[in-house]
Amino acid sequence: MKMVPDFDIAICGGGMVGATLAGLLRNEPDLADLRIALIEAHMPAQPPAAGVELRVSAISRASERILDRAGAWQSLPAAMRCAYQEMRVWDAHNQPDSESALHFAASALGEPNLGYIIANNWLQWAALDATRHERVTCFAAELNDIELLDEYARIGLQDGRRFTARLVIGADGASSRSRRCAGIQARIRPYQQTALVTQVRTGRSHQFTAWQRFMPDGPIAFLPLNDGQSSIVWTTTPEHAAQLLAMEQSALGAAITTASDHVLGEVHVVSASAAFPLQLAQVDEYCRPRFVLVGDAAHSIHPLAGQGVNLGLMDAASLVQVLAEARQAGATIDALGERAVLRRYERWRKTENTAALGLVDALNRLFSNQQPGAGLLRRTGLATLQKLPPVKRSLMLRALGLAGEVPSIVRRAG
Ligand SMILES: Cc1cc2nc3c(=O)[nH]c(=O)nc-3n(C[C@H](O)[C@H](O)[C@H](O)COP(=O)(O)OP(=O)(O)OC[C@H]3O[C@@H](n4cnc5c(N)ncnc54)[C@H](O)[C@@H]3O)c2cc1C
Repeated sequence: MKMVPDFDIAICGGGMVGATLAGLLRNEPDLADLRIALIEAHMPAQPPAAGVELRVSAISRASERILDRAGAWQSLPAAMRCAYQEMRVWDAHNQPDSESALHFAASALGEPNLGYIIANNWLQWAALDATRHERVTCFAAELNDIELLDEYARIGLQDGRRFTARLVIGADGASSRSRRCAGIQARIRPYQQTALVTQVRTGRSHQFTAWQRFMPDGPIAFLPLNDGQSSIVWTTTPEHAAQLLAMEQSALGAAITTASDHVLGEVHVVSASAAFPLQLAQVDEYCRPRFVLVGDAAHSIHPLAGQGVNLGLMDAASLVQVLAEARQAGATIDALGERAVLRRYERWRKTENTAALGLVDALNRLFSNQQPGAGLLRRTGLATLQKLPPVKRSLMLRALGLAGEVPSIVRRAG
């Protein structure tokens, strides 16, 4: 007799992407009969405590729709998301209101905002909260091993528990253990850059605008928060980041004031700081029979355009769409883990992610380039873009996740 696996789908990693994916699977009518397991090593037991969360993400319009479909948007307290209406990007040799600075406004796109700044721990909590359901079994444990067999996969946890699933989805982040268990290599290129993050109070209002000033070693960004403060992401050399990290708050505030050219007045640091080494990474294979990758487990992108988790949420929505379409076309639950089905997802998302990774990498190179002529090229490029509203609009719609080969749940809500 044929063995029936314990679960139809096991998701390894309940971060922002994995937890949202569980909610999407749960809410997809064509997949309503699937039994889902979610494995998370650091499962939060309660909502995040009040106080500063250093890790925040700019969440796109498309991601809002995906989170809404997953049930996570409803679980996210309104006070925990800060809508921003505008974005200003400029080169260190210029001013934010100069001709060669870029200015994006939600009103020019007919959108209510350009997106939201949300703390990562709240986003993860809301997505996990939406999965608390009889069809999703959560394992608060670390994945240890995966064995991929023809008809199912065997999964072992660090605490000794073992079970089987028809399909394993690796959503366990950039150093993915599931990816290694499946024998999939990632091509990784470390940037000689580190991102310092901290939270600040500023002399002038952020005006619900995201501000980003490009300097030779990398950009400094101010992301607006609801309480009037801003989250800082300062990309610089690893050596400089180490110096900044070692500074007293007052000295760091003065350094940020200078690096931002006083755009929001005097800056006061109000939290601890942390630093993240940056890398460009992507896997060649997004899937194997009975196994597929989503989110940072499949790709890491430079944070300058705030796209990482947004791409991961697109992966999640696209994968759910591919699985649902396979079911509509008559595939059995068992067939969902077959390579022929998963390849459709791989072709789709690899093309989209490769384009996004390449574009952001090119921007980082252009803005960090110290060669004579590069500064002129930057300024001319920005000025030209600013004067070409259709090109600017299409670039912005892509950044908002509303253009390109987007999943139908992103389109339908539009
Ligand atoms: C400085 C900085 C700023 C950024 N800003 C933005 C931004 O503004 N907008 C944006 O879209 N992106 C941004 N990103 C990128 C974003 O943070 C990542 O793309 C996102 O965290 C990826 O989500 P994920 O769920 O795929 O992986 P992760 O967030 O890494 O989650 C993986 C989850 O898997 C769990 N896990 C790992 N190993 C195991 C295991 N063995 N067993 C069980 N569970 C496991 C982890 O506990 C974790 O919960 C930024 C990144 C950096 C460094």
